[in-house]
Amino acid sequence: MPKLGSVRDGYCKEQVVQSGLRGMFTSQCSFKIWKDGYCKIHHPESVAIREAKKAKLYEEKQKNDPWNIISIYREKLDKANARILELEWLLKERDEEH
Ligand SMILES: [Zn+2]
Repeated sequence: MPKLGSVRDGYCKEQVVQSGLRGMFTSQCSFKIWKDGYCKIHHPESVAIREAKKAKLYEEKQKNDPWNIISIYREKLDKANARILELEWLLKERDEEH
């Protein structure tokens, strides 16, 4: 077993979180180097691609989420209601002047 925090030659330098009997700890990734000292999974390029895909999926999900659609309309409705109250108040003010 290599010491915790030590970097094994030929292996990806990413520290990954693991859960063991004593809880969570980090250890060096067990995949071999693909390029620039990282495996295919942890190479910054791969990570960026994965993040972009995740962000896109999240965006799609958000767009189609009925709760999100409702909240957009609710916001519009709140604004409309506020405007109605304002106009009603103005009308009342005007009526009281006469
Ligand atoms: Zn790795």
